[in-house]
Amino acid sequence: MSLITDKARRSVLDEAERLRLLSSTERDLIRLVHEPGFSRWLDQIKSIGGCAHPIYLAGHTTTRDAITGEVLRHYDTSSEPGGRMPVRCRNRRETRCAPCSYLHAGDTFHLVRSGLLGGKGLSDGVRHHPRLFVTLTAPSFGAVHRASDADGGICRPRRDGGLCDHGRPLGCGQRHAETDSAVGQPLCRDCYDYPGHVLWHASAGKLWNRYCHMLRRHLATAAGITQTRLREHLAVSFAKVAECQQRGAVHFHAVIRLDGPGGPSSPPPLWATTDRLTDAVRSAHTFVEVRTPYSPATGERVIRWGEQFDVRPIRSEAFTESIAITDSAVAAYVAKYVSKSVGDSGGVDYRIQDFESIRLAPVNSHLRTLMATCWRLGGLPELGALNLRAWAHTLGYRGHVLTKSRQYSTTYEALRAVRADYQGGGRFALESREIVTESIWRYVGSGHSPAEAELAYGIAEDLAALRVIRKELMEDGTVSGCANIW
Ligand SMILES: [Zn+2]
Ligand SMILES: [Zn+2]
Ligand SMILES: [Zn+2]
Repeated sequence: MSLITDKARRSVLDEAERLRLLSSTERDLIRLVHEPGFSRWLDQIKSIGGCAHPIYLAGHTTTRDAITGEVLRHYDTSSEPGGRMPVRCRNRRETRCAPCSYLHAGDTFHLVRSGLLGGKGLSDGVRHHPRLFVTLTAPSFGAVHRASDADGGICRPRRDGGLCDHGRPLGCGQRHAETDSAVGQPLCRDCYDYPGHVLWHASAGKLWNRYCHMLRRHLATAAGITQTRLREHLAVSFAKVAECQQRGAVHFHAVIRLDGPGGPSSPPPLWATTDRLTDAVRSAHTFVEVRTPYSPATGERVIRWGEQFDVRPIRSEAFTESIAITDSAVAAYVAKYVSKSVGDSGGVDYRIQDFESIRLAPVNSHLRTLMATCWRLGGLPELGALNLRAWAHTLGYRGHVLTKSRQYSTTYEALRAVRADYQGGGRFALESREIVTESIWRYVGSGHSPAEAELAYGIAEDLAALRVIRKELMEDGTVSGCANIW
């Protein structure tokens, strides 16, 4: 008898000891799985793709027949776990939320692709319009270390005795891997034109606008008409993405398309060929410039594009030539960059409040100097219009990652609305009636507890693995049609 009691006591003690040894995440997990709504919570997190920072809302939506007042649909969070429901954070950055950035990249893919191939409300005719994929870069602000390319080239060959004014070698002569922390760093920090770099960033948006303007002017000149009359003949539309290089300089990849005067659904005039567009894109690149406000500290700078410049015609999949790239390749390329923030290779993804936080920012010394230069120049009244302090975290660049002209294609909002309809279902049954919807929602919290974060991560991983399998099966031809990898 006493033996059994001892055994029981020991097992109770073991249990207590075991709990004590558990990590806080494991203890949190035990709490979580014992909550009454646990399996429903798992379903909810699955339905938002394992979002890493969900927003929790509480409230209800009621849809009634406008005439009879009959309740057609009612959803209330009072029956949900914790009386709330999670929605996606929708962050486009991979470093913040991998599943949402994936979804955003997918939307970007469709947004860019429909501008090239039609679909999502856009005429299929756009695939026959002249379309170019253009890369525009910033000029050099000083020599930086370069990664070896595929043929193992060395970084800036050294010439004996070549020193800069600060006594530092003008060459490097080493081989750097892509991941080497030296890549993108200046050979001499004192020679590097930091003010020029941040002033270029601050003017890049204006340079792009002026570039588009000049492009239209060059097209008009080529056709022998005035610029004002150009819009009676054609429209230029574009989608562009900003990417940050390792040296901390932004460059742009843009899809530029010619439409007729009625937009995507109307064909451009016969004279508006891919070659004409290429010529206009090239000459505008050479001539366009913006001048910065004068400051005794920086002088007046002339802002131009860098010499590195690439123009490629975009062909539909079926007619690919060696120098051309395909519609889908362009869309995938652009989508990939949208999930990166400027903070991924330059700057940080939060605003800088004071000079001290630049000192503490988790960036290399080159980027820190760029941020400090923004702060210093941003304090000069004559450069106030450039807002350099407010954009010190993005090294002075204040544009969006993705921008597009109104006529280019669909919008993120439209793509989300389609998805919401698809997920919500039931809409079709209501279409023939006149309805009123009342929605009351409030924010009640966000984010995961440690165990919730682990489980959400697992769900996101499973979904990602599933996509890979599905994609492989599609490539094998085992599955076709509806499996949408994006
Ligand atoms: Zn998310
Ligand atoms: Zn080097
Ligand atoms: Zn130097």
